[in-house]
Order: sequence, then C-alpha cells, then structure tokens
Amino acid sequence: SNITIATLGSHTALHILRGAKQEGFRTAVVCEKGKEVPYERFGVADEFIFVDEYKDIVNSDVQDKLRAMNAIVVPHGSFVAYAGLSNVEDKFNVPMFGNRDILRWEAERDKERKMITQSGIRMPRKFDKPEDINKEVMVKFPGARGGQGYFICSSYEEFQNKIQEMKERNWITDSDVKDAHIEEYVCGTNFCIHYFYSALKDEVEVLGMDSRYETNIDGIVRIPAQDQIEANLSPSYVVSGNHPVVIRESLLPQVFENGDRLVETAKKLVKPGMNGPFCLQCLVNDDREIVIFEMSARIDGGTNSFMNGSAYSYIQFGEVMSMGRRISREIKNAIETDKLDVILT
Ligand code: ATP
Repeated sequence: SNITIATLGSHTALHILRGAKQEGFRTAVVCEKGKEVPYERFGVADEFIFVDEYKDIVNSDVQDKLRAMNAIVVPHGSFVAYAGLSNVEDKFNVPMFGNRDILRWEAERDKERKMITQSGIRMPRKFDKPEDINKEVMVKFPGARGGQGYFICSSYEEFQNKIQEMKERNWITDSDVKDAHIEEYVCGTNFCIHYFYSALKDEVEVLGMDSRYETNIDGIVRIPAQDQIEANLSPSYVVSGNHPVVIRESLLPQVFENGDRLVETAKKLVKPGMNGPFCLQCLVNDDREIVIFEMSARIDGGTNSFMNGSAYSYIQFGEVMSMGRRISREIKNAIETDKLDVILT
C-alpha cells in the first residue's frame, strides 16, 4: 500500500516503526533535532520530519507533510503530552490509529475512575476529604510530576504534618493541597498489563506485562531501614525503565475479564470505544485481587519491555509480536478487508 506509518520520535516509536516495517509499510518519524539518533541508528525510519520542538507536530506544515505521505499516525503518551490533548482532539487533522476521543478519559482522574468503576473493576477506594483517613492512604497531586511530593500516611494528623513538610520542600503548593487526591494504599506487587482490542475481530488480546523501575523509590529500598530513616529521603516515582514480567497463571481469568469489561464500557461511554492498545496498571494484593490504579487508553511505555515479543504474545501468535507490530498488523488487516474506517479517527 502507499500508506506511511508515522509517529513522534519518543516513548514507543522504536517498535511502532519497526513493527510497521515488518508488516510492509513505509515509516516516518517526527523528531526534534538531535533526538533522531535511536531512529537513525536502529534503522527504523524511512523518513525524518524535523521540528524545533516536539509540540510543533501540530503545526500546519508538519500536518501537510504527513498528509502528503498518506500517513496514519500512531499516538503514544509523549505525543499526547507534547502536542497537547486539546490540539490532538481539535487541530490535528491527520488520520490517527485508535479513538482520539478516548485520550481525555485517561487524562482526567474523574473520567478514568468512572470508566474503570463502571466496568465493575476494583480500584483503590477514594477518600473525599483528609478528615476521613482511617487507614494507610496514598496522597497524589495533579499533573505529571513523576510522583514527586506524593506521600503515604494513615491519619488526618499525619496528613497535615506531611503536607507541611512537602510545602517546605517546595514540592507542592497550596493549590495542589486543595486538589490532593487521596486513595487507599494497596500493598501488593505491580503489574502493568498491555492489552490490544481488535475492533476488526471484536476481541481483547493480552500482549504482554511489565513492572516499573522507578526513581527514587527503587533506590530507597536498596538502603537498609536504619539508614533510610537517617537519609530522610522522600520517595518519588519517576519511571526510568521497565522489567518484563509474567503473572501467576491462575490470575489470568481476572486479567481477561478486566480487559473485556473495560472494552464494553468504553464502547458505551466514548464511541467507537477502546480501539487498539490500552494498559491497566495494577497491584495484586494478598487476596489475589487485581486492583487497578491507572489506565492508559493508548500504547503504554511499558510495551518497550517486549519489542521482541513477550511470553503472552508468543503464546498467541507463535511469532515475534511487539505491540507496535500488532498495530500495523491491524492496519494491514483493515486495508485488506476495506475497513480502515473502523480503526481510524
Ligand atoms: P504516571 O506517570 O504513570 O501517570 P503518576 O505520577 O500519575 O504516574 P501513579 O502511576 O498514579 O503516579 O503512581 C506512582 C506509583 O505509585 C505507581 O508506580 C504505583 O506503584 C504506586 N501507587 C499508585 N497508586 C497506588 C495505591 N493506591 N497504592 C499503592 N501504591 C500505589
């Protein structure tokens, strides 16, 4: 076909582009000058569109170039963050893989909670006001801040002391305090589960799982407890890498059920639904419950942990299947059956 698969040069661009080439497409990457190194050195891009800043991907000349090459753009977390959500919704008139209207549902905490709980999926309980704290909770603040200033406490008094401390460190402001999000602390192990919903087949696939490698919480836990207290470090959760992981096999029915339920709810709440990749970030507790604390309604960064396939994508496909390749396989299937309109917005 004469279609080019394009994305922004960041996040998961390597396997999105490599996967596109494996499926026989031409590829293009929109890159900030100086950031092209991986795409050049790994040889995944046929075309480079250079911009001064990533946010310029929504500029009309860049959109013109993309349309001229018959591009289908694959959105990822950095694309949405740099381009700006409302620009992607209203000003980016290039065909995009998946449902662009669903991106807002992962960006706004209330919408995200509505979609997950309406699906009957277990989330950490939310506390409406700090006075209600009667067990371990995690306190989060708005914006993508890598968890800086987030803290754990178990009473209103401790909440107030820690708020004071975070303000003194200049990690949070008074307006952050007003918007503090307080939720039950779930003690468990982290799994980020990467699903693919094929609208063509009306079926949910589990393609892989990762767990997060985060500074400085993963650094802190390497310090003996005694020294941790003296070091007086506050944890942050800036993702610096991902480990591939598999889940206890008896939890897989729950894994599929959660994916199926979310897809059904998404069809009702935001048409045409959760087309393509999505991710549920969860903690598995002692009761072997999967508790979801966050979702991505597009390809998640943790899919980089299986660029060469995962245990699950191997079981499903018997060939190397990254999430990037799966996207292009879907596009190829749609072209062959004349159903591109089902998977693009
Ligand atoms: P992201 O960049 O992924 O949006 P964020 O800054 O919004 O991150 P979260 O992903 O919500 O932060 O949380 C950061 C980390 O804190 C997670 O990796 C998770 O391990 C942990 N965490 C989040 N919510 C809870 C919870 N309710 N109970 C226990 N741990 C949690």
